[in-house]
Amino acid sequence: MRFGGSEDPHYVFYPHNFIWHIPVNTDRPGLYIHVPFCLSKCGYCSFYSVSSTHLIPEFVQAVVNEMVFYKETFPSFDTIYLGGGTPSLLSVSQIDDILKAVHNNFNIDQHSEITMEVNPGDVSLEYYQQLRKLGINRLNIGIQSFDDAILKFLGRRHTAREATAAIDHARKAGFKNIGIDLIYGVFGQDIKRWAKTLQKALSFAPEHLSCYQLSLDKQTSLFKRYQQDSLPMPSEDQALDFFKTTSRTLTQADYIHYEVSNSARSDSLKSRHNMKYWRHVPYLGMGPAAHSFDGENRWWNTADVEAYLKTIDEGKKPVEKSENLTKEQLALEALFLGMRTKDGIDLEQYKTRYGSDLLMEKRQTINELIKNELVGLKDGRLYPTLAGMAVADSLALI
Ligand code: SF4
Repeated sequence: MRFGGSEDPHYVFYPHNFIWHIPVNTDRPGLYIHVPFCLSKCGYCSFYSVSSTHLIPEFVQAVVNEMVFYKETFPSFDTIYLGGGTPSLLSVSQIDDILKAVHNNFNIDQHSEITMEVNPGDVSLEYYQQLRKLGINRLNIGIQSFDDAILKFLGRRHTAREATAAIDHARKAGFKNIGIDLIYGVFGQDIKRWAKTLQKALSFAPEHLSCYQLSLDKQTSLFKRYQQDSLPMPSEDQALDFFKTTSRTLTQADYIHYEVSNSARSDSLKSRHNMKYWRHVPYLGMGPAAHSFDGENRWWNTADVEAYLKTIDEGKKPVEKSENLTKEQLALEALFLGMRTKDGIDLEQYKTRYGSDLLMEKRQTINELIKNELVGLKDGRLYPTLAGMAVADSLALI
């Protein structure tokens, strides 16, 4: 999951609005830049992207111009994430232009995590080497599967062989922090077949693994195919089996399963950028469809690259809509996000920040969840068990 992208939690139910100022979160914000170009659309994808790449040069200039709007309100960052779309469609000099502008407009911590998403098949060894020279110190490679039939079914452009080459090249170029994205629960993929992909991924000892269950928005072409061909999605039991097998396999391989879909080889290798999202830390998103959050307000850019370019050209922010979140909305969102993580939430901090004493207000429900082994309570933290993580979205409704 990319935060600042087009999948922020707007599906959280919000009660009525009133103004309330939360104590300032002192963690530094993260910066997300959405690169909205993909050569073709993967069947399951609902991120905003366009397939024609002729607007890339104008896009790069527009993002650089967009930074000027935020240099006062978001003066410094310690994580930068180039996501998309397919950022690896940009040339090295275009990425250089963006990063130079980031450094010119904002104060970037010298120990920042700087991540770029890359797609196997697009990228040469030399390209990876150049990325490192630009200061990119973390890669997130969209592998999705090491099974050619599954890749084809998902509508990916690359093969398993290209996926392997992408990781090999990244290592050869000297990247020491590599994340791999995988998808499970695809039609025709049983646990055994998924386990093979997982084992293949582990053979590269990636620092980070994101394993997502396939979920399909109605507008995706794969959703339509599932409908037309009456293809079944995994049942609840099968989905749980995939989830538990993944967690067990990765834990046995010494990974920390620290968020519903994310595991890392150590605490320091967790995605620092995405941790901000789960911890409700402010972030700035730039580029078409990017979302931003300043601790009290959320806004998002127009999901139309041409409108985005035009608006910036006119000297205006390309914001499509914004909303002021009430104390209740923020509290619910923090609970929803925090209960996706193994660490859960610090109840004292939660009370200070959102004015809600969960133990007092929800004692009975929490006791019930503890009895059902869905949550635990330790050292002042409320956290999900593995079974709780599997149903994390509904835990926020406590
Ligand atoms: S490459 Fe990534 S962003 Fe582009 S269509 Fe495929 S999944 Fe979506």
